[in-house]
Amino acid sequence: MEKITMTVPLVEMDGDEMTRILWQQIKEELLLPYIDLKTDYYDLGLPNREATGDQVTEDAAHAVQKYGVGVKCATITPNAQRMAEYNLSEMWKSPNGTIRAILDGTVFRAPIMVRGISPVVKNWEKPITIARHAYGDVYRAVEYRVPGPGLAELVFTGADGQSSRQTIFQFEGPGVIQGQHNKDDSIRSFAHACFQYAVDTRQDLWFSTKDTISKRYDHVFKDIFDEIYQEEYREKFEALGITYFYTLIDDAVARAIRSKGGFIWACKNYDGDVMSDMVSTAFGSLAMMTSVLVSPDGKYEYEAAHGTVTQHYYRYVRGENPSTNPVATLFAWTGALAKRGELDGNEALSRFAGKLEQATVATIEGGVMTKDLSALWEGEIPAQTVNSGEFLAAIRENLEKLL
Ligand code: NAP
Ligand code: MG
Repeated sequence: MEKITMTVPLVEMDGDEMTRILWQQIKEELLLPYIDLKTDYYDLGLPNREATGDQVTEDAAHAVQKYGVGVKCATITPNAQRMAEYNLSEMWKSPNGTIRAILDGTVFRAPIMVRGISPVVKNWEKPITIARHAYGDVYRAVEYRVPGPGLAELVFTGADGQSSRQTIFQFEGPGVIQGQHNKDDSIRSFAHACFQYAVDTRQDLWFSTKDTISKRYDHVFKDIFDEIYQEEYREKFEALGITYFYTLIDDAVARAIRSKGGFIWACKNYDGDVMSDMVSTAFGSLAMMTSVLVSPDGKYEYEAAHGTVTQHYYRYVRGENPSTNPVATLFAWTGALAKRGELDGNEALSRFAGKLEQATVATIEGGVMTKDLSALWEGEIPAQTVNSGEFLAAIRENLEKLL
């Protein structure tokens, strides 16, 4: 077969440890033999972030803005231990944080379902996609440890010098305070990203907050969503036969568990952090999740939801051949290639990405899988546990049959 050509490059962001090894294996085994791969390459591996003073992360994010689609490998977020391990001059910020701050947007995470691995929640038949707002709230909070008795106040000083002042609490002893914020702009783009994603994927959209308790803060989220829905999406939703539905976060949790799945659940930043781990674990594993950041101006960054799988990497360095699951990293590539194909009118590229996903699912459903999955396997044929390289080779065999 002739190699598929690409017109516009994909922004490729390499990463760290075990996922960096998988990255290379995926390219060699499943992409380069079939695609004349055109990428704008950025090495976000920690040594190169150190060497460039983290400039490479910003450059990569700007490249995604320029080309519209990026694919990112998992990266180390340095902590004290990493400072010593990599001899760092600075505790560089989380690359995902830096990229999200530049692109702004919403992270959509959905489980990859396969026959033979059933969700813990037995009535879930279709994936539940979590749409997580990626800006503000507790992630940008200012906190203060109250040392003893005193008055805590909330003061806002407008650009015109006018100020508003409210009592938070009259402390009679030690305590703690937290100040959170969000911006209408960011909430609006979160809402647009969710409505647009629901239209693109033809799924119902749920949105939940706790506006009965947070009568101002969460209410702003609810009102902005409602306004944007009525003004810009209601007709589109009705035409597609999908619904938008707002409810309280605790009600949403109960309904989600009782549901059959097959919807998008938009969550505020913290709720999305917690719910995406709950949903992914209940569906199987973080290694079987797709994750994409969608910016308000329609730029897409695909990644795996898990980290760099450090413990497996240390074993790999010692000469072992770990059974690390490459599916989430592979689906980051297929998601990005399919989107590139869609944006460029390159049907062959999108079709190839679809077949590669199909071959991956078929491999697992055929009983060949990595160790994390064989532990969950309930299929009729016995599971054959293989290492990452053998798993990718088995996918290639299935892919050849589909091409
Ligand atoms: P992790 O890399 O996700 O791994 C935690 C554990 O989950 C692993 O030890 C492994 O369990 C299992 N696991 C995760 N992915 C797997 C896969 N693909 N196949 C098989 N098992 C998998 O999380 P972490 O150990 O907390 O973090 C490691 C590094 O990743 C940290 O430096 C962190 O900063 C970084 N990180 C990056 C991102 C990102 O770039 N998006 C996200 C999270 C963390 P067993 O050992 O039991 O097999
Ligand atoms: Mg989390």
